[in-house]
Amino acid sequence: MKKLFLIIGAPGSGKTTDAELIAKKHETITHYSTGDMFRAEINSGSKRGQLIDSFVSKGNLVPIEIAIETIVSAIKKAPTDLVVIDGYPRSSEQMIELDKYLLNEKEVVLVNVIEVSVSKDTAFKRVLGRAADAKVVRADDNEEVFLNRMKLYTDPLAEIQNFYSKKDLLKQICGEGSIEEIVNEMDEFIQSKV
Ligand code: AMP
Repeated sequence: MKKLFLIIGAPGSGKTTDAELIAKKHETITHYSTGDMFRAEINSGSKRGQLIDSFVSKGNLVPIEIAIETIVSAIKKAPTDLVVIDGYPRSSEQMIELDKYLLNEKEVVLVNVIEVSVSKDTAFKRVLGRAADAKVVRADDNEEVFLNRMKLYTDPLAEIQNFYSKKDLLKQICGEGSIEEIVNEMDEFIQSKV
């Protein structure tokens, strides 16, 4: 039985870094980031990658069929029973599609959804700071695209929070502290649930 944790958070919330560090600490955890998986597909130069790039470069969501297929195949290929995926769901439709999948898939259980929350100001500074420091700059780490990504994250957030709160599956973690503090809190939470 696979145990799934989802991590959601605004661009710049640090969700991918946090999850990567936790997976490094435990051989029993496999971590995937939807954004990283899409960037890998873009870098492969495939036709699918070109299609994905036309959304990612503008900060738009890739089509739902691609998003759901990407996370389902990640869950399936994960070599461990504990799977942490960050970056999903990003819309109510994605949330509902995953819920339908989980209803029919008896070998996968959603253990919790962790929301890493940061202020818009912190998110903005981190994303633009990341762009200034990066050797390879992400095409979507600029002010205009950031604002679109932030809006697309914020618009469905209340609905996503309500949906998982009602199922008692939502954990909110403040992402404003040091990476170490946030990683420790998230790690302890995950360990307490498995
Ligand atoms: P991230 O690395 O999480 O900031 O994601 C980078 C970009 O990948 C997003 O701005 C979207 O264009 C795309 N993306 C990531 N996750 C999803 C998802 N669950 N659904 C649709 N698009 C996504």
